[in-house]
Amino acid sequence: MKLYNLCIHELHEKLKKKEVSSIELTEAVLERIERLDETLHAFITVTAEDALSAAKDADARISSGDELTPLTGIPISIKDIFCTKDIPTTCASGILKDFIPPYDSTVVKRLKEAGAVIVGKNNMDEFAMGSSTENSAFNITKNPWSPDKIPGGSSGGSAAAVAAGESFASVGTDTGGSVRQPAALCGVVGMKPTYGRISRYGMIAFASSLDQAGPVTKDVKDAAIILGVIAGHDPLDSTSINKPVPNYLESVQGDIKGLKIGIPKEYFIEGVGKEVADAVKDAALAMEKEGAVVKEVSLPHTEYAVATYYVVATAEASSNLARYDGVKYGYRIDEPNDLMDMYCRTRDEGFGAEVKRRIMLGTYVLSAGYYDAYYKKACEVRTLIRNDFDEVFKVVDLILAPTSPTPAFGIGEKKNDPLQMYLSDIFTIPCNLAGLPGISIPCGFSEEGLPIGMQFIGRSLAEDLILKAGACYQGITDWHLMSPSL
Ligand code: GLN
Repeated sequence: MKLYNLCIHELHEKLKKKEVSSIELTEAVLERIERLDETLHAFITVTAEDALSAAKDADARISSGDELTPLTGIPISIKDIFCTKDIPTTCASGILKDFIPPYDSTVVKRLKEAGAVIVGKNNMDEFAMGSSTENSAFNITKNPWSPDKIPGGSSGGSAAAVAAGESFASVGTDTGGSVRQPAALCGVVGMKPTYGRISRYGMIAFASSLDQAGPVTKDVKDAAIILGVIAGHDPLDSTSINKPVPNYLESVQGDIKGLKIGIPKEYFIEGVGKEVADAVKDAALAMEKEGAVVKEVSLPHTEYAVATYYVVATAEASSNLARYDGVKYGYRIDEPNDLMDMYCRTRDEGFGAEVKRRIMLGTYVLSAGYYDAYYKKACEVRTLIRNDFDEVFKVVDLILAPTSPTPAFGIGEKKNDPLQMYLSDIFTIPCNLAGLPGISIPCGFSEEGLPIGMQFIGRSLAEDLILKAGACYQGITDWHLMSPSL
């Protein structure tokens, strides 16, 4: 077993026993990046020097016998949407290509305080808008399982890096599926916690009522470790939940006897690949064998989720992205004729096509005369979708469903068909609209050899339960142990 194939909890044991040093781990990961990333493009920025110096500090702490956290000395990466002090934070956009934040986001601050070693910033779709990482202003990330396939998105760089052993974990963001969908398509674990469980401070905003950070890891136990470090109240984010953070490492133990799992019939519709549907059904059978009680449930408003999302998300995006005007920070054109010319050309040159499409859509749905017909209506339908989940959670503890209707698709295949691209998030979006926690877990492979993922969705703040179900599934299957040969 190569070092880069190991999980965080395994590396932690090795670090404690001094069988390996943080410097060795960091060098192993940097060597992987050096060798693979010219092709994979999972990173926008690699911070080798800072990483080696953080690793040295971690090793000093380990040899001094200090108390260690499960993340001490572990090399990880971060989606380039999280502000990192003195390190470029681009959001994969031309408009922020030279932006260097003067502060760390809360997520990054907590990871650093826990002793994690940050090796770089992962590629993504510009402003997290996309499902394939083809909307990055820099490069297209490749799927480590097949270089002509997309890795999913928008946290495609995070998922590809973890799958390829270029980092041991990453933190991404999930507004409509952007952690879970790339995790599914790259064969790793991706978790979106309850809205508000993790602070959004210093996380560049796309759609503020939906955005949530979440771990991308090799297995469920590692997701519990990362979540335990980054979750929790933050006075700097008024929407962060002020409730204690459970010990998630305790959640990943124990059995699931009597656990009631609902399979929503609306998630097995036309357009869902047979291999995907079969893999999820097999997983349900495996859970039944472990003592879970599986039954069919209905989430009747699922068919409206994508339309609702693209009204709410674009409305919020158009407002959030108004701040990029060439005045305060980010790109500004040279020699404008006047103020209006500066605004217009800065935004025209700085933003990519998908971002412009969403700003226009969002401005339209919020405009006087259309607000009631589109934005207000979407907010009402969002409540119906949330109510669907409330009803189902009266009879089951968890929902099990496919994460994505198909395995990874080809690079360029959906790029010019935004509607097809939007539909790839049909099963992840409802969870964001309802603010609920979800976790995507590898559950098989297609005939072509591409990973398939399934997700557990839980009640608000039931992270512990979805982690437990996920860990139980991984205890009886070995899909998560497969890695691409690179
Ligand atoms: N793919 C969806 C979109 O394009 C979700 C993105 C996300 O979760 N950030 O908006």
